[in-house]
Amino acid sequence: MNKHVSFNSDASARSLRSIDTSVALFGGTPVIAPGRVTLWPAAKRKHLKALASVVESGKYHRVNHPLVTELEGRLAEWSGGLSVRAVGSGTAAVHVALDYYKDRGHHIVTSALNWPGAVGPISISGLEPIFVDVEPRLAGMDDKSASGLLEPDVAGVLITHLFGNNILAPNLRAAARAKGVALVDDVCQSIGAVRGIVGGSHLDTDVLALSGNGAKHLGAGELGFVLTRDPNLIDHVDEVSLTSSSRNGARIFSPNSKGYNYRPNVFSASIANYRLKHLDQQLEKRRNNAFLLWREIGQLPGLAPLFDPSDRHQSMLNFPLRIEPEQLGFPSGPVARDFIIKLLQAEGVPVWVWLTKPVFEYLPDVRGKWSKADFPNAMRLLDTMFYVSEIAPPNDAEIMKLYAAAFHKIWAALPNLISKIPDGVAAA
Ligand SMILES: *Cc1c(COP(=O)(O)O)cnc(C)c1O
Repeated sequence: MNKHVSFNSDASARSLRSIDTSVALFGGTPVIAPGRVTLWPAAKRKHLKALASVVESGKYHRVNHPLVTELEGRLAEWSGGLSVRAVGSGTAAVHVALDYYKDRGHHIVTSALNWPGAVGPISISGLEPIFVDVEPRLAGMDDKSASGLLEPDVAGVLITHLFGNNILAPNLRAAARAKGVALVDDVCQSIGAVRGIVGGSHLDTDVLALSGNGAKHLGAGELGFVLTRDPNLIDHVDEVSLTSSSRNGARIFSPNSKGYNYRPNVFSASIANYRLKHLDQQLEKRRNNAFLLWREIGQLPGLAPLFDPSDRHQSMLNFPLRIEPEQLGFPSGPVARDFIIKLLQAEGVPVWVWLTKPVFEYLPDVRGKWSKADFPNAMRLLDTMFYVSEIAPPNDAEIMKLYAAAFHKIWAALPNLISKIPDGVAAA
């Protein structure tokens, strides 16, 4: 409390002294001019060519459209030997996987720091989530605590990989194997995790769910994938999805379908097909950009990466960072982060706050049964985390240097800006 009091009186003293009007939020010129940064999915003419190939095919849907089959084959090859089925979305892929394993038990163990789209399918499948806190340095589910939760009524573990991170969770995977609990990996943000990333081998998992939506690496619109070694799970995609017309083209109506119609969008598939050819270069450039940016801003006090940007296995969908508010003279909680985000955004840096609440708060079916207080690591990250987007090509080293210049400008100005943080805090 004392700290807050001195913070407040300091702040009012400073506000009399100087207000830094060079920062863009208070009228200065932004470091990055509008239009300078290319926003993902980085549209280009080649995408029009891909879309035209669907029009020329004369067929705008079908799960066995040649373009979809080609894409499935190419992704299978890129993954290094998994079987692949394209579906309507990443969420659909998670649902198909959970639906397949739902008879093994009634619960799914998953992280409290999670994407609602990953967790929603747990209830859709008639299952209940058990939430686990995260490891603060990875933002992935805590390996040891999760391993201790595999009771006999647990059907599966849903391991969500965020921002391009790889959640290896070796203890959890071993414990799940020993107990016959299904391992489902949500790699919607970490496409690289479908390849050999554990000393050259694949993750020990039963199924990987991938998204091809416009914000993800394949930047394709609306699309998802189920990747597995289990041929019955591949068949299960059609059982959950197809109501009419079998995969081989026969005009039938399935007697058993669950009827979700999770068909892949063929237009999106055409774009994903094009992008997959250049995926290795894309990943390389994302990693290089994040690494370079961190080299430029890593010495700033009170700033930390969520995971090691020099790890060449991660997929770096975005570059996630954390603020350490106390180190910057701010009270704990989200205020420092929220204020710094506004300052950086005004300078033209594409920084964003991700979710601000644990995932159960977003889901009416499970809200109320769980308390934020039980997930201190997740809460700390949710209060302090943000990410730099637009680290994909064609954005290059020059753009990263502009981002870095804006960070340095804001950090230099921060001591004179503390009085400007929102009233709620100054009054706290
Ligand atoms: C995007 C995403 C999903 C859902 O994918 P959609 O294709 O948008 O349905 C699921 N989980 C995570 C972690 C995601 O980032």
